Amino acid sequence: MGRHKQHKPRRSRGENDRPATEWFGTAFHSTAGMQHLDVRRSGNGVLITSSPAEIDGVPASWPLRLRNDVDGGLNEVGAALAAGRGHVFGVTEGPGQRTALAFLPDHPEEGVGTLARVRTSEDPDGDVVFERSAERPMGLWAEAGESLLRIVPLLGPDAPPADELEDCRLCPGCYRPVYESSSSHTLIGAGPLPLMGLCRLCAEGSTLRSLRQANVPIDTRQRTVLETVAAALA
Ligand SMILES: [Zn+2]
Repeated sequence: MGRHKQHKPRRSRGENDRPATEWFGTAFHSTAGMQHLDVRRSGNGVLITSSPAEIDGVPASWPLRLRNDVDGGLNEVGAALAAGRGHVFGVTEGPGQRTALAFLPDHPEEGVGTLARVRTSEDPDGDVVFERSAERPMGLWAEAGESLLRIVPLLGPDAPPADELEDCRLCPGCYRPVYESSSSHTLIGAGPLPLMGLCRLCAEGSTLRSLRQANVPIDTRQRTVLETVAAALA
């Protein structure tokens, strides 16, 4: 038997009042823990943040901004994600090499898809390097794609360019990317732990409840933060 994995994409609760230009989803993975995806408008484009993702093989968060004039169009990207269809876009040619973004659906064993930035060399025997990649259940990608399709018409032709990525911190309880509009602005207690910048789901205690239901692993630091919040809420 290989690794046992379990994917339970679920909708965030209590976030129905969020702007139409944002979406957020989390999958609970039996070995990898929480896997977040955030899609939001960013100037004349869309920002897709995967946390965690792999950047040069190391876990990190990956904010990927796609301008509305991305090769093939943002609608194509959204439609491919929504339909679970493979898609290559954002190709850039450099000396002797080519970089492209790719959505690679349906990992044969797992029902997961991967969004990646892939570098290939002109040499047909050359290596294919995954510079960045994020693996998520297909259902979560589909929801992200549908959200992207909803957001694109709201961009408007005269939306200002976003030259710089918006600031994003990772919630200390769940490592969800927290942007200005999704921040809970909650500070609980003044204990030894920095509990600033918690996302709303962690501040309300719903993250800990979901984790207990889904029975997925969580690292010690996150657990300590969430249990401190739970104690403060009790
Ligand atoms: Zn959180």
